[in-house]
Amino acid sequence: MKNKFYITTTLPYVNADPHIGFAREILEADVLARFYRLLGDEVFFNTGTDEHGLKIHRKAEELGQDTQAYCDLKAKIFLELKEKLNLSFDNFIRTTDENHKKAVKEFWKRSLANGDIYKKMYKIKYCVGCELEKTESELVEGKCPLHPNMDLEAIEEENYFFRFSKYQDQLLELYKNNPEFVVPQKRMNEIRSFVEGGLDDFSISRLKKKMPWGVPVPDDQDHVMYVWFDALVNYISAIGWPEDMKKFNKWWPVVQLCGKDNLRQQSAMWQAMLMSVGISASKQIFVNGFINVGGQKMSKSLGNVISPLEMVEKFGIDGARYLLLNSGVFGEDTDLNWEILKEKYNADLANGVGNLVARTLAMCEKYFDGKVPQAVPDINNLEKKWKNCEEAIKVLSIHEAIGEVNGLISACDKFINEEAPWKLAKNDVKKLEEVIYILLETIRHISWMVAPFMPETADKIFEQLGLDLKEEKEKSFKEAKKWGGLKAGTVIKRGEGLFPRIE
Ligand SMILES: [Zn+2]
Repeated sequence: MKNKFYITTTLPYVNADPHIGFAREILEADVLARFYRLLGDEVFFNTGTDEHGLKIHRKAEELGQDTQAYCDLKAKIFLELKEKLNLSFDNFIRTTDENHKKAVKEFWKRSLANGDIYKKMYKIKYCVGCELEKTESELVEGKCPLHPNMDLEAIEEENYFFRFSKYQDQLLELYKNNPEFVVPQKRMNEIRSFVEGGLDDFSISRLKKKMPWGVPVPDDQDHVMYVWFDALVNYISAIGWPEDMKKFNKWWPVVQLCGKDNLRQQSAMWQAMLMSVGISASKQIFVNGFINVGGQKMSKSLGNVISPLEMVEKFGIDGARYLLLNSGVFGEDTDLNWEILKEKYNADLANGVGNLVARTLAMCEKYFDGKVPQAVPDINNLEKKWKNCEEAIKVLSIHEAIGEVNGLISACDKFINEEAPWKLAKNDVKKLEEVIYILLETIRHISWMVAPFMPETADKIFEQLGLDLKEEKEKSFKEAKKWGGLKAGTVIKRGEGLFPRIE
């Protein structure tokens, strides 16, 4: 039986266009999804849009639009990322979907029945930017540190609360039994000490007359659900809960990606909510860093946004995918600007894989009429390279996996310079055959290694190597990574350069 792999991104709010932080998150999820598919696993890859809450309601009002119509328009922009970034997600959930809203109501009822939801007076400072209440200790000079331009709202009203405090021990137990539940370790430590510090019950509803844009609370017309409560449930409603339990049981638990600002919601609040309705915890949570642009935290108000779609225009889909995925060390903040991106593109792609493929195929044409020479054994220890690459991807250490491939490309360049095929052509054709075969077959391996990151490039290389794309697509890694896949006599089809240099 095939292994199952269910992965999801967080759902971005639809009040702004997709930014590079989310683009990187969804690309990382895409790499994992493609990787596990290539391993031969059955994969379900979920993403979508978070469409409730005050921020979205106000934005639509500001624009004089109907809120649902506004959401429809924005959700479409996120859905279009599929084509624009060549993403392979299987499901796109919107929190305004009827199925989802139905699931959320059922979730509420079960949590209520378990004694975990109660009503009390509520007086807080609320950041509309985060859609979260802020405690005094979180504020910087009386403002939300993530939204220093926005005033906090004081709210006092009767609200429903979730009995978060009840789950402290169970959460600590979960972390103890699953030391890699949150990756990287630094974030695991952060959430553990947050939970150890004691948990306050949190509000999960808003008065409908103040904030009508949410899922209605069952059996209480005056309240709608708090946007976080509603949105988190998507990770189970996306796979059929509670109506299609066969589908749900097939896929659950999930591997979740999230940004570090979502750490509490995903790895503590959401896990407690799952416990409350008797569902096992998520499988694993990978936490990303922010990407800094021009040395500052990326934000529209600071006017220094690099849009992922602009990156696609400048560098092509795979160029943009590569740069976004490789834009920093996993889990850490990263600085980005156009100059750095261009340099990296030229160094790693134009002069790297692009040059190696063009150079090798040109030699194969020149010396052997474009026919692949007789096979000889591997000299690059590719088995080890494959192992390193796969292990790095599994822990979402994408830059390490990419580094492994780039190392292999450099080794090939060095090999060409040392063996000097232009000299061999004059005095040792046998040796020249061996050198060219090793290069061509290593390039075939490289194209498989980059397939999860740069799927289009992998296909182009297959075609240039004279392989049948349809046949290649049916292979899994297991088959593909055997040395000798490229057969003698195959006629290569040198094509256009993979990554033209950008000046
Ligand atoms: Zn905020």
